Amino acid sequence: MKYVLVTGGVVSGLGKGVTASSIGVVLKACGLRVTSIKIDPYLNTDAGTMSPFEHGEVFVLDDGGEVDLDLGNYERFLDVTLTRENNITTGKIYQSVLEKERRGDYLGKTVQVVPHITDAIKNWIEAVAVIPVDGKEGPADVCVIELGGTVGDIESMPFIEALRQLSFSVGQDNFCLIHVSLIPVLGVVGEQKTKPTQHSVRELRALGLTPHLLACRSAQPLLESTKEKLSQFCHVPAGNILNVHDVPNIWHVPLLLRNQNAHHSILKQLNLLDLATPPALQ
Ligand code: ADP
Repeated sequence: MKYVLVTGGVVSGLGKGVTASSIGVVLKACGLRVTSIKIDPYLNTDAGTMSPFEHGEVFVLDDGGEVDLDLGNYERFLDVTLTRENNITTGKIYQSVLEKERRGDYLGKTVQVVPHITDAIKNWIEAVAVIPVDGKEGPADVCVIELGGTVGDIESMPFIEALRQLSFSVGQDNFCLIHVSLIPVLGVVGEQKTKPTQHSVRELRALGLTPHLLACRSAQPLLESTKEKLSQFCHVPAGNILNVHDVPNIWHVPLLLRNQNAHHSILKQLNLLDLATPPALQ
């Protein structure tokens, strides 16, 4: 199994869900079978009891699972049928660990965030990634994992640690990290500012994860000089820095990524260039 992890930096609501779904579309257009997992680092076990005014649409899956609206994006973009297990929340993880603790499964050990919660997260991801979601038999080729929230949040720390361990255990050919970040333009200066992204990449690297690609949300396309600066300070090749500027309709985002050869950078990282065909997106 190959994993593509999508994280977010600087602010929430950046478009991680749309970016992750669009990456899935581009990989699918290359002939790969794609599944997805959404991680929500909140303590609610699912989105069913959360106010739609605060949280947006609650998406109901075919199996009755009440989940984050990003799973709706995945189903619509990728034409897959996900299960409630494809949405991992802190609440679900703690519930499963506490049930095991009450059953005595830990045999008297002290139950801790590391390794018990992080192991539960890794095991959950590895078990769900192989569930077929596209009506075909056998596991998908690539699992796109979106980590909700913003890097540096206290809530997402156990997930980041679990994903760091996962990236190490699956090996570098099987793991691609895409960090979605914001490039603001200050009205007075009129310049695309890279510092917030530099800080969020530094935060991610301090936690043991280095992004292979950056997906930069901005009002206008990035200038070459902005890309060069990002590349130099964020340790990401300029060719792996993607523009995901504001578009009038989110269905444009997969094309935006395809036109920048995002698939090439991702497939290269995943050592899949020989297997995949160029994407036939219109
Ligand atoms: P996140 O997962 O980071 O919270 P979402 O993917 O849910 O963010 O996107 C937040 C909002 O931004 C949604 O309303 C989405 O339609 C919009 N959006 C995302 N990407 C773009 C884009 N490139 N251009 C315009 N709107 C976008």
